[in-house]
Formats: sequence, structure tokens, C-alpha cells
Amino acid sequence: MTGFPSITAGIQIPPNAARCLKHLEVFDEVRSSAVHPQSIVIRSYRDGKQLSSLPLVPQMEEHYHSPYLVTRRVDLHGVLLVKAKSLGVLIHMGAKVAEVDFTTPSVTLVGGDLYKGDLVLAGDGTNSSTRQALPGGDKMPFHSGDEVVSIAVDANRLRQSPELRRFVDQPAVTTWFGPDAHVVTYPPKSGDLLHIILSRREDRDTPVQIQPREAYLQELKDFFKDWDNSFVKLLNIAERAMKWTLTEIPNLPNWCHPSGLVAVVGDSAHAMLPYLAQGAAQGLEDAACLSVLFAHVRDRIEIPHLLSIYERLRMPRAHETKRRSKVMRDINSMIDGPEQEKRDRELLANELSEGLSVFWSHPEAQLWTFGYDIVMETQDTMRTYRKHTLGTYTMNGLFTYADSNVPSE
Ligand SMILES: Cc1cc2nc3c(=O)[nH]c(=O)nc-3n(C[C@H](O)[C@H](O)[C@H](O)COP(=O)(O)OP(=O)(O)OC[C@H]3O[C@@H](n4cnc5c(N)ncnc54)[C@H](O)[C@@H]3O)c2cc1C
Repeated sequence: MTGFPSITAGIQIPPNAARCLKHLEVFDEVRSSAVHPQSIVIRSYRDGKQLSSLPLVPQMEEHYHSPYLVTRRVDLHGVLLVKAKSLGVLIHMGAKVAEVDFTTPSVTLVGGDLYKGDLVLAGDGTNSSTRQALPGGDKMPFHSGDEVVSIAVDANRLRQSPELRRFVDQPAVTTWFGPDAHVVTYPPKSGDLLHIILSRREDRDTPVQIQPREAYLQELKDFFKDWDNSFVKLLNIAERAMKWTLTEIPNLPNWCHPSGLVAVVGDSAHAMLPYLAQGAAQGLEDAACLSVLFAHVRDRIEIPHLLSIYERLRMPRAHETKRRSKVMRDINSMIDGPEQEKRDRELLANELSEGLSVFWSHPEAQLWTFGYDIVMETQDTMRTYRKHTLGTYTMNGLFTYADSNVPSE
């Protein structure tokens, strides 16, 4: 097994993210190397009984005009890299930013190279040092109470087993809900590896492990020994697993520095638990929003205004998605008992009460999550902005508006 885990790691691209890829003109390339899972299947940890199945094909296209895809992270990165280069973006691999100057603005790399720009967008992830310099951003990521384990299983070995071949031959995202743990399989392209992500409760006092490290398969096999036999067999075929801590960050009061020239994007702004598969999707919504905002920038002086519109448009939705992802954690890992029985009954009947209203199968949650169009919303906002700006600026760089109905930024 080579290149584990970064090469094998899968990622779900829900319709709201696929829509952003279309706007960024990389959708066809991403789709060509992706899988179209037919459904998201939820199973009980005990016996593998199907509790719920959310059909994806053709429903997602029909309802949201964009598909639900699963791809390898490395493939998604590759497509974005080619696109960025074709647009003339200079990419410095292996360059570590040592310092951000928030007013120039500029970044200095370890080694001393200095890069000045009109603005700095910091996508430096959950442990972002840029975020820590924003007002109210100084709180460190903390242990979420879950550890996550990434496992790759040779798809060819699965194809040899009549019981397990369905995990690779019938593309579906399969999920098991169990006590204090939750498992997801990412269907592979043919001849590839099946990627499995599992998460389970861990004492919050356990030291945070940021870099993935080897997980002991025997310990996992012991923990999951009473789970659905199919999953136990998948674990038995696995050769290697890597684990790390899932951390959380408190909601930030600001995504932009007071200079108006530096903003955080992606996980550095809104890292969330992965239980709605929306973390990167929200980052893509950030990217699509910024691309609309900056497509027709007229003057540098507009930058603080555009960044503040970005924050205003994106923050409420990202924070709400983050909240829902955390609620989902409690839903998918309930311990056996009356609450879990109620959950399973509702999933089986496909009649979800308020308690399950963040789950994709809930019609309102699904529409809210998958149906959202950040491109359209940003374009609408920009039309209002352009209509109401006089096109002149005061000496300190503030816009004056033609009427007072423009929402404050
Ligand atoms: C188990 C799991 C499953 C997930 N599944 C999904 C899914 O199916 N769908 C989905 O949409 N999301 C999913 N997510 C969330 C998704 O992985 C993240 O939201 C996404 O990777 C965030 O991307 P990012 O570019 O913002 O941050 P990152 O991916 O963290 O990238 C930040 C980069 O910045 C670099 N960096 C940091 N500091 C510096 C510095 N000083 N100088 C230079 N570089 C620096 C880091 O090395 C890193 O490469 C999942 C997350 C987890 C943990």
C-alpha cells in the first residue's frame, strides 16, 4: 500500500460544493475523476440493518441541479492546481509563512522572502496562526472529544469476497451509527482503495494529536468486535490505519483584520466537525463568494468593503453549518437506549422529528444545505452594492452610499 493516507483520502462533494466548482470552472474535471454514489446508506452498528437510504442519483441533479460526488482529495487538489496555474497563479510549494503584516499587507516566509500584495487571504487551516492575530481569534483549537481514524482497504481484495464486494461494486456512501462511534466508507473508482473514516469518543484530557500517527489495528478490532459482521471483516482486511484528534475552534467574531486587507478563509475561519461532510464545501463556498466579489473590483480602496461583505455573507451560514455538524455528532453516536431507539424508528420510517432536523434526509435541512447558491446570493448582493455606491470614496477609504437602505457592512 503506497502513499497512505493522503493519496487514498476521500472527500464527499455535496451539491452546494459542486455548484461552486461549476462557478470556478473546474466541475467537469473534478467530475471525470469522481464517483457518483447512488445513495447514502445508514446502517445499524449491531447487525448492519439499513436504517435509512438517501437516494442521490438522479435526485440531487433533479432537485439541486448539481450532483453529489465522492473523489480523492489528491484528485481535487490536482484539478484546482492546474486551474490556478492556468490563471497565472504562482504557487510556492513547501513555503511556510512565518509572519503576516496586516497593514501593508505582506507575508514573510521562513527564510526571509517577503511577498507584498493588495490583500492577504489566509487559508492556513484549523491551527491558523493568522486567525490568532485577529481580534477575538486568540483562542486555541481544543479537543472535541473525538478521535478520527483513516483506513484504506485494498478494493481488489474486497472484490474477491461475495459479502464485501458491494462496498466497491455498488457505489454508495455507507455509514454505520453506533455507540460512541461512527463509520463512513468512501466508494472508490474502479481498481482503487476503499477509504474508511471512523471516529470515536476519546477522553478530552487526552493530549491533542494534530499530525496523523499510526493507529493499532488490533485495538480497533477489539473495540469494534461486536459491530456488524461486514464492518468487522473490512477491518480485518485493513493493513494500516492512521489516527489524529478532531479539534474544534470557537466561533470567531471577525474573519477580517481591522486593516480590511487580510481575511481568513476555509478551516482557518470556520473549522467544523466532519459529521455533515461540509467542511471543505464551506471553504468552496468561501472561494466562490470571493471570486464573485473580486471579479469586478474597480479600485484597491474597495478591498475592505468587499472583505466585509464576504464576512457578512459567509459567517452566519458557516457558523450554522458548524453548529449542525456538532449536533449530528450526538445523533450518529448515540449509546443504546430509548433515544437511540427513537432515532432508529424515525430513520426507518423516514419521518424525522425536530431532534433529527439537521440530518440531510430531513427535507428542510437538505434544502438548506444542498440547495444553497452562494454565487447567486453574492451576485445579488453585489448588484445592490453597485447600485447604491456613488462610486466615490472619502479620504479614509470609506464608501458613501446613494441611499440609506444599504445594509450596513
Ligand atoms: C475525517 C474528516 C472527513 C472530512 N470529510 C469531508 C467531506 O467529505 N467533505 C467536506 O466538504 N469536508 C470534509 N472534511 C473537512 C475538510 O477536510 C476541511 O474542511 C478542509 O480540508 C479544509 O481545507 P482548508 O484548505 O481550509 O484547510 P487545510 O486542509 O487544513 O489546509 C491548510 C493548509 O495550510 C497549511 N499551512 C498552515 N500554516 C501554514 C503556514 N504558516 N505557512 C504555510 N502553510 C501553512 C497547512 O499545512 C495546510 O496544508 C473532513 C474533515 C475530516 C477531519
